Amino acid sequence: MKNRILAILFCVICIHASSVAFAEQPEIITTIINEEQNKEHSDELQQMLQFIDDLYDNLQSRVKNGEKIVIFFDPAHGIDDDGKWEGEKTGRLSCTGMPEEYYSLQLSRKLYQLLKKNPYIEVVSTKDYIDALEGKTDNYYNITFRETVELAKNAKATLVISEHLNNTASIFKAYGLENVKGIHITYSNGKAYLAHIREEHKGFLTLYNKFDASGFSFQLASRVKEKLAANGLRVNNWNYGTVADDRFTYFVHYPISVIFESGFISNPEDEKILSDPEYQKLIAQTHYDAILETIALTFGIDISGFWGPRIVDNVNPSRNLLLLKLSRIACYYISHNDTDRGVHVLSLLLKECDPAKDAAIIENIQDMKYRIERSKELYTKAIALKKKGKMKSARYSMRKAISLVSRSPVFYELRKTYRTEYKGLKEVIEQTSIAPRYSVPNAMVNPLASSITKPVLVVIEKNMTPQEALFNALQCDEALLKKISSQFVQAKVKVGKKRFEKPTNEGIYIVQLTAKGNVKSVKRVSIVKLDPTKYQNQIYLKNSYCVPKERIKSL
Ligand SMILES: [Zn+2]
Repeated sequence: MKNRILAILFCVICIHASSVAFAEQPEIITTIINEEQNKEHSDELQQMLQFIDDLYDNLQSRVKNGEKIVIFFDPAHGIDDDGKWEGEKTGRLSCTGMPEEYYSLQLSRKLYQLLKKNPYIEVVSTKDYIDALEGKTDNYYNITFRETVELAKNAKATLVISEHLNNTASIFKAYGLENVKGIHITYSNGKAYLAHIREEHKGFLTLYNKFDASGFSFQLASRVKEKLAANGLRVNNWNYGTVADDRFTYFVHYPISVIFESGFISNPEDEKILSDPEYQKLIAQTHYDAILETIALTFGIDISGFWGPRIVDNVNPSRNLLLLKLSRIACYYISHNDTDRGVHVLSLLLKECDPAKDAAIIENIQDMKYRIERSKELYTKAIALKKKGKMKSARYSMRKAISLVSRSPVFYELRKTYRTEYKGLKEVIEQTSIAPRYSVPNAMVNPLASSITKPVLVVIEKNMTPQEALFNALQCDEALLKKISSQFVQAKVKVGKKRFEKPTNEGIYIVQLTAKGNVKSVKRVSIVKLDPTKYQNQIYLKNSYCVPKERIKSL
């Protein structure tokens, strides 16, 4: 009898102890936490869930009881420590030479005025950005996405928003070419680039959080798209204006976050719209309306009227919250390299989704699952190939695995595992022969003679030797590099009607090689045949880092 009482007592204590932390969580979540063997992970997950509840649980009655919806307004870029605008430093410039901040601040101020007037919303940001939004100053400092996440967490922000503009110039920056004479290739590259600009580099889009399965971030992006398109603004081609994003800390580490990109300042038609105060007003009003509608749609609370917060029918906030929690748990597991658990939670999440309503969310989850599962398959395959001594194939598989999990901080740990293993497969690199870097993904491994005979683009940048440029372009072994460079620097390059030069100056050269690796011919790329009266060509010329200054001025 005594034992039985003790046993009962013991059970009661157990139940009590475990129910303290999980009493509020739905069963599916409690099960996941209880299955977690690692104490640190389970503690961190509980803290995370607590944080999510603090932000979103029971928002309806909390707002009705006077609590405000906190919006963290992330400064778009800003001034760096050296006192310069980031837009100027990184080439985020408009057609008329204005940095991205010039337009983003104008839009942000208009949106801020609308948010500020709403008594149920509190806007939080850095002190200097709030001052800039208030119009007290035009200067504000740049903060990193990591700092944004920290500040938003401290402020217990319901969502994080930011007003950005797109541009074309950054592509050149990313490509790493600076002030090289003669970039204007009138061959296929130039044409392809122009076509790309024409098709892609225009119109607005919204980047939304890929790990937000509540649907809030996606719905907000969708609403912005519908409203702006209905008002005649151009939607960007990229995913038709709503882009699921996992490339930044901003999205991986904050539950609900979006970035508005209201157009390409490097496109003259877009810049014209963006500099018109009436359009600025329309865009800001659209962002404001979309935020309010999405709050009503996801959390079931309407804060748009003067009559006070109103509960919205036919909305199931607790379901949306459950989906959000599951997606955040999956995100936690994946970023902590416990991908088995991550995939397990993603599968549970898929079962909770409604195919009729959550199509975009389902697509995002499936994409995430696929990238993990497929990359793991490729990794396992690469290890097996390595054991068989098939290093070339092993490297190929491992590279494919790495590329599947690149571009997102959530895969940092997984990518590290693959990369470490990839380094162990490097013996093959030493036997590398010649191949143009840009042609085939497998270029570093024993290319066929046919790829040698393709013309190679050799870019000699400022303060770069021809040898370095050749190595960049060919990635070939030392002996071959020596042979090619000695022939290359002796080659005659036509620069005028009867004038020849040796290709040792900075510039871009098209080098034709024979199958044996001898230099057949070297041509300099120097002619600009773009019609400057056509606006796409203007953009191409203006945004190119490689255009001589006079040419920009003459346009
Ligand atoms: Zn930006």
